[in-house]
Amino acid sequence: MKSDALIIGAGPCGISASFELSKKGASSIVIEKNPYIGGLSSTLQFGKFRTDIGPHRFFSKNRYLYDMIEDLLGSDWIAVNRLTRFYIRDKFFMYPVDIMDTLKNLGFSGSLSVIYDYAYEKLKNNFSPRKIKSFEDKIISDFGRSLAELNMLNYTEKIWGLPCSKISPDWATQRIKDLSILEVIKKALNMGSSAKTLVDMFYYPKYGTKMIYEAMAKRSLNSRIIMESSPVSLRHEGGKIKAVRVLSKEGEMDIEADNFISTMPLTELVKIITPSLDNKVLESAEKLKYRSHVSLFLAIDRQSLFNDQWVYLPDSYIPFGRMMEPRNFSHAMSEDGKTSLLLEFFCWYGDEVWQASSEKLLELALPRLNKIFSLKREEIFMREVHRERFAYPVYDLDYKKNLEIVKKAVSSFSNLQVAGRGGAFKYNNQDHAIEMGLLSASNIIESPKYNLDDIGSEQAYFEKGYVK
Ligand SMILES: Cc1cc2nc3c(=O)[nH]c(=O)nc-3n(C[C@H](O)[C@H](O)[C@H](O)COP(=O)(O)OP(=O)(O)OC[C@H]3O[C@@H](n4cnc5c(N)ncnc54)[C@H](O)[C@@H]3O)c2cc1C
Repeated sequence: MKSDALIIGAGPCGISASFELSKKGASSIVIEKNPYIGGLSSTLQFGKFRTDIGPHRFFSKNRYLYDMIEDLLGSDWIAVNRLTRFYIRDKFFMYPVDIMDTLKNLGFSGSLSVIYDYAYEKLKNNFSPRKIKSFEDKIISDFGRSLAELNMLNYTEKIWGLPCSKISPDWATQRIKDLSILEVIKKALNMGSSAKTLVDMFYYPKYGTKMIYEAMAKRSLNSRIIMESSPVSLRHEGGKIKAVRVLSKEGEMDIEADNFISTMPLTELVKIITPSLDNKVLESAEKLKYRSHVSLFLAIDRQSLFNDQWVYLPDSYIPFGRMMEPRNFSHAMSEDGKTSLLLEFFCWYGDEVWQASSEKLLELALPRLNKIFSLKREEIFMREVHRERFAYPVYDLDYKKNLEIVKKAVSSFSNLQVAGRGGAFKYNNQDHAIEMGLLSASNIIESPKYNLDDIGSEQAYFEKGYVK
């Protein structure tokens, strides 16, 4: 079998690459290990219910992506009024932060320590700036200790399973760079624009986020997706990948191509490159870690639970970190007259939570659900568990050094591009995964060549209008 390009993975990045190639007249074969497409942005169906794998709010600074998705989905691309909150010490706090709501919830002495710690940190930084070696340093320096400890440090530790002193400050730079106390105060004093922004509302596919990728796949006429297939080896010669041996339901076969795009976890890819990469590269890859995600889906005999799309639960004594109600994204996600909840647990592959049955997870969660919603076990009429091993590339203090070694080795193959969240080991959301896919396709068929590593940085290409 042969095609212009072989793509590993039918998630947002791989599907976008095959969509773009197809649009430009090139053929591609996509191999996907799951029996469904969409990767982490897929939508699961349980009876008459649908749920994404955790909340998937589409957000981008790139107008091109909104136009593209609107063209794909038409009236199924619906506007949703956003409501998301934190649940901390048995109280709901608005998110994004509303300073008046936060101060009211904290009471007089709590508010005083937030204001004092923030002022102290800013003043201290003027004389002797805090050395920023970790996420903890960065967050305390930006927000003061009390606010940092209220939700940012404990929530981050819950996601990562690491103390914030062992997490790279890059995580803050990438994820909360737009959050500043000044902006929050301006908003509270009504000094910002009153126009609805993409923070107050977002667009969402009526039947779940997978719709975007199904629509792209349907339009990719020059592309073939082989479901439930995985690469066994990538054979290289003379600095180029020549063929991929693929294991599918039909058995093993060799697929040749001129170009290869991999969106499978980078650490797994390097193990199957043949002849084998240098030991030092494999050892560095071994040190790169992914955090896993387990979600518990519950169908509930109630019309509705709350108005939020999702709620963060940073307190360490609560076993899950986030909960979402899919019908608040789109009523079409739920059976009429009933609702559902998805609880998210963050864990390490193979640990107790990873191995827990849906019954065990429910046992852990039920006391809390009872406290928040007075929810009783009899009201839950279906439960399912879903596991994602490679959910979050972990930015620990050494990841950059290890990643550089691995990326250098992989980039020595002139016709191989690694892209996407797990593929490039980059904490991408959908927008950047799609951009990486489109640009990796572009790199195959035209000039100029784009550096995929720059996507998501301040100089994002699309904002400069490179893609028409
Ligand atoms: C809990 C959670 C919440 C999120 N919330 C949001 C959000 O609100 N907004 C947002 O925009 N983004 C969100 N994201 C991020 C979003 O899901 C990802 O950015 C996006 O799915 C990345 O796309 P990708 O194609 O790069 O990778 P993936 O989605 O990981 O796709 C990779 C594909 O490769 C396949 N694959 C892996 N290994 C192999 C193999 N060996 N052989 C063949 N195929 C293989 C996988 O099955 C998968 O289909 C969230 C992610 C998580 C985990």
